[in-house]
Amino acid sequence: MRALGYSVEREGVPVQAYRCDATKPKAHQYSPPEPGDPWYLAYNLYARRRGTALPDEQVVVLAHKDSQSWVDSPGAYDNAVGTISVLEIARVLRDYAPRRSLCFLLCNEEHTPWTSVTAARGAKERGENLVAVFNLDGLGGKSAEETAAGSMTNVTLYTAPEGERLAELMAQVNKEYGIGLMQRPYARPHPGDDDGSFVNAGFPAAVANIGSYPYADPNYHCETDVPEAVDLANVRLAVQASLAAIVRVLEGQWP
Ligand SMILES: [Zn+2]
Repeated sequence: MRALGYSVEREGVPVQAYRCDATKPKAHQYSPPEPGDPWYLAYNLYARRRGTALPDEQVVVLAHKDSQSWVDSPGAYDNAVGTISVLEIARVLRDYAPRRSLCFLLCNEEHTPWTSVTAARGAKERGENLVAVFNLDGLGGKSAEETAAGSMTNVTLYTAPEGERLAELMAQVNKEYGIGLMQRPYARPHPGDDDGSFVNAGFPAAVANIGSYPYADPNYHCETDVPEAVDLANVRLAVQASLAAIVRVLEGQWP
């Protein structure tokens, strides 16, 4: 990220790993840590570039960079694809001077507490103005039937009306650029995932892009979430659409 011209900061957050409860269904075998369980230092990584015209208005592009702590999963869809998507967007924008400020955040989610909570609360405490937050998680992850049918899917999850407008922007750029995703908005009843950390902290324009919802990847939270099962063509299209929406916001063309 430094080599790409961003200014990078690291923020340590103490976390505990979830325990494994094998009596639960396969995708949900995590259980809370015991009080005496060890603490680890996980890191939020921020990579920033200041906006040329509207530097106080910030766009956050984030992904959690870890995989599950309670099962030996490689975490290819959850969430190596989100992590590499953030890195790829940073690479593509290496020579770009945005009108609004740009912040990439790589955080940790699959243990407790989620480090995006610290990031979101910190932004609120510093009085930052986050005009949009894009969380990239499980891009292209979908059911075996959708994969077999060659479906190129993306769902934009939102909680608040401001997020719904970002989901509309995703649909708009998908259409305008002929990206070809089956793009769908989904209103979640409560804030969830790392975008939800920002909604809870008072930043309602936060969305997650994910391959399906409810998440239908048969390998979800399993040892079989391996790179070979990832539909890279779908990940690519979801990154293109995300990038198009992100640049619209960075240029001040949204909301
Ligand atoms: Zn995830």
